[in-house]
Amino acid sequence: MPGEHIPCSFLYLLRDSEGGFHVVDPGWDTDANWSAFVAALETLGATPGDVRTITATHLHPDHLGLGRRMRDTTGAILQLHRAEAHALSTQAEHRPSQASVERQADEWGVPADRRHELLALALTDEVPADGAAADEPPVVDRLLDDGDRLDVPGFELVAIHTPGHTPGHLCLRDDARSLLVTGDHVLPTMFAGLGLGGPTESNALADYVDSVARVTAFGDHEALPGHGYRFTGLGERAEASAAHHLARTAEVARIVGQDPATPVWQIAAQLTWTAGFENLAGFMLFSALSQTEMHRDYVRR
Ligand SMILES: [Zn+2]
Repeated sequence: MPGEHIPCSFLYLLRDSEGGFHVVDPGWDTDANWSAFVAALETLGATPGDVRTITATHLHPDHLGLGRRMRDTTGAILQLHRAEAHALSTQAEHRPSQASVERQADEWGVPADRRHELLALALTDEVPADGAAADEPPVVDRLLDDGDRLDVPGFELVAIHTPGHTPGHLCLRDDARSLLVTGDHVLPTMFAGLGLGGPTESNALADYVDSVARVTAFGDHEALPGHGYRFTGLGERAEASAAHHLARTAEVARIVGQDPATPVWQIAAQLTWTAGFENLAGFMLFSALSQTEMHRDYVRR
């Protein structure tokens, strides 16, 4: 992956009982990643033409990015949850306008001397590391829903809809092998952010808490995450992840409890940030304010 924050994402390659190959999460779209993928296939005596399906846990470029090139080169079908496909096909419409960012800044109580940072985001084409996918979306061949069985002979892969990180995030479970692909829903070394996909009416934290319960039901499965390493103890880790986010909610609840009308900016300024609130700028500042608003709305609910 580009940048220094996260070194890599995992592509999972499954060999089915008929000799075909199936990809889960193609990874970031670079020539180096494509070459590494082709080389990995070669070590298994296979070529790109042997790939049958490509499944993305969610739309972020470190998971789906290479999907378009992979689909076009291999002839495999590309599939993901219908909410992700919808977000991909409408993302151009959702690029914020200057007017909408100004409205947002008013609502959040952003001081006059910091507004230009948020406005700059609305006017730039810069793609944040984990916040948006490529402009031209890939063709999606199959829309997945919760409970759908994936067509991978010899596997019993079932899609579990786990919204929170993004609205159409999917985990995949194989009960026969006791495996669960977690994408960015549950990770061993960090807690992924919430509400980082397409717009939704629902509260991403509320969705996430429900989604955690959906995977703790399979908490004894071995977890195959999008980053880090394979791990056991999925149930405990999923609960720790929900607790991590809800601890932040409790911080927000204390502030809102004293004055329910406290603007998002003033709530955020009182919270603990790793880098320090005063050092947050640009997209990080926007993200911090969005997350704060999500927690405030969860408290209000
Ligand atoms: Zn992600």
